Amino acid sequence: MLAAFVVAGLMIGSFLNVVIARVPEHRSLWAPGSACPSCGAAIAWYDNIPVLSFLALRARCRRCGVGISWRYPLIEAVTAVLFAAAAVAFGPTPEGIVAAALLAVLVALTAIDLERQILPDVITLPGILAGVLANLATSRLSLRESLLGVVVGGGVFLVIILASGGGMGAGDMKLGAMLGAFLGWKVVLLSIFMAVSVGGALAVILMATGLRGRKDPIPFGPFLAAGGAAGLFWGERVLRWYLSGFAS
Ligand SMILES: [Zn+2]
Repeated sequence: MLAAFVVAGLMIGSFLNVVIARVPEHRSLWAPGSACPSCGAAIAWYDNIPVLSFLALRARCRRCGVGISWRYPLIEAVTAVLFAAAAVAFGPTPEGIVAAALLAVLVALTAIDLERQILPDVITLPGILAGVLANLATSRLSLRESLLGVVVGGGVFLVIILASGGGMGAGDMKLGAMLGAFLGWKVVLLSIFMAVSVGGALAVILMATGLRGRKDPIPFGPFLAAGGAAGLFWGERVLRWYLSGFAS
């Protein structure tokens, strides 16, 4: 069971590499097939096996020898690890599959935001609908809880954007709404709180050490994605623990 999730993670991770490279450029995900960006040689299936081909080719194109980015096997490996974690936490259930799918989307959004400082609408907007439908299908959350999650997850960022005059982008707001659809309003608030805490602390450290200037953009999407993943795995448990403190 675990092996099935890991293999699926490697394959989905390989597909995410295509998503990360092509979606921001509005290119088709299906055609043309993968090719070397340097010499244009089509990549054969045996040179396109997740992680293994990268190692076998020693990070070089078979034809022209140009270096292949370590980002490709990294994305595949990270996705496989996250899928394994979803399998362990939720089991081979519809919930486990939804968790893995959400994590895959978060991997793609993180990589795209780090590289280009955008969170594409073509991923986040359908993601909101997918979150609501996934909860309807699995009955993990009620429709009300999921829709409230959309309003709260997006609303927090709307308030931040209005109050700060653009400290965060509309992309962050849509990702917040998407996470709310999947996680519900309580857990998404916790996720946003974690993202703001960690992201804010890191921004202060980067500016204090002079690694980043006040004007250099630090994308917030990766922190929000990480907060969402943490909320997915531990959110319910943290809320129970927190609320039990008041009840006793
Ligand atoms: Zn090449």
